[in-house]
Amino acid sequence: MKKKVLKFGGTSVGSIERILHAAKIIQNELKNGSKLIIVVSAMSGRTNELIDMSKSVSNNFNKRELDVMLSTGEQVSCSLLSGALNDLGINAKSWMNWQIPILTEGEHNNSRIINMNVDKINNFLKDGGVAVIPGYQGISTTGDITTIGRGGSDATAVAIAKIFDTDSCEIYTDVDGVYSTDPNKIPLAKKIDKISYEEMLELSSLGAKVMQSSAVQTAMMYDIPLQVRSTFTDRLGTKIFNKESLDYSKVVTGVAYSKDDAKITLQSVEDKPGIAADIFEPLGKNQINIDMVIQNVSSDGKTTDITFTVKRNDIEKSLEILNKNNKIKSKNISFKNNVAKISIVGAGMVTTPGVTYKMFRALAEEKINILAISTSEIKISVIIEESSTLKAVKKLHNIFNLD
Ligand code: ADP
Ligand code: ASP
Ligand code: MG
Repeated sequence: MKKKVLKFGGTSVGSIERILHAAKIIQNELKNGSKLIIVVSAMSGRTNELIDMSKSVSNNFNKRELDVMLSTGEQVSCSLLSGALNDLGINAKSWMNWQIPILTEGEHNNSRIINMNVDKINNFLKDGGVAVIPGYQGISTTGDITTIGRGGSDATAVAIAKIFDTDSCEIYTDVDGVYSTDPNKIPLAKKIDKISYEEMLELSSLGAKVMQSSAVQTAMMYDIPLQVRSTFTDRLGTKIFNKESLDYSKVVTGVAYSKDDAKITLQSVEDKPGIAADIFEPLGKNQINIDMVIQNVSSDGKTTDITFTVKRNDIEKSLEILNKNNKIKSKNISFKNNVAKISIVGAGMVTTPGVTYKMFRALAEEKINILAISTSEIKISVIIEESSTLKAVKKLHNIFNLD
């Protein structure tokens, strides 16, 4: 008998009608003879509402208390789905993070799952029960409720697949699978039947929120194949698995974009050994991640301009740290918030020359200026003006034959 994890995202449990529909899917799976662990997200929009509520109390709302509140979103959908399954005559039961428990480590709002107790749930499954578990939440070793980062129910599903050693992990969502780009923004996007962990990891880290990146990372680390599929159609979804089994005929697999970045420029800083370290060390020590860095050639041999990108949420803190840093003498520190990061991803890039220039030429044809660039073996990202995002994604999708 197969043991499966089925994860239902926010839209899939976004209304009572949808919860009843998800219950029918579960009923069918049960008829096929599977043992089922169900992971649910909060009803769509609920987590945002809770965050907004906290902000209306304080802009600096206590993170421990925020986790207590955020965990209620998944608690509600868990109980509604279990109740709906009970109504269909199915022996279903929900468990909260502390009842299992789902142990986490790390800071509030951004913890990681480290272990779960499997005994109670395995016994329940043995007796034909369906276990319904909340995504996104856990409990710390000190007994505090935690959450594991936005979109974290995907990571809960993958952790359960690993810890309970299930035969499959299926992510039910509001699109048919992983597409060459966001199908809700670019209707010409094509569904991808199979994709490697590496490519999926790049796409999700670069903005394709259909799978949360840390979930993909865990799946890759433990070789847990994933399937992304629609709650609302029967169409075949996307398989995410080990790249050994893939062909590389396509140079670019997908185009992703995100609007979470900001660009900072330090004008005319001294061009001498150690200056980059002096700039970035205090930022790093304050948990600020730097993504792209550009250092211009010094025209006078004495000073240079350094541009880099940080997460938009970190911009104020970054500027404060830079302005306080008396090791750097810069003529001017400027920043730009309204930028977007556009990325092309494809395992085939490794063996195909000329992808970089083709991307840059295409953007130039659209009169889009590139503000920063970064590359890895299987991706190229550029920072551009935010207002040109869709134009850039459409153009790249087209010239790399993804339409
Ligand atoms: P869930 O609530 O089920 O976790 P999400 O909203 O987190 O769903 O993720 C699904 C959404 O991801 C889709 O509705 C789609 O708009 C978006 N998306 C972004 N990039 C892609 C992509 N490359 N393929 C599929 N969906 C994508
Ligand atoms: N409810 C959480 C969020 O909106 C987790 C999830 O949906 O995966 O981020
Ligand atoms: Mg999601």
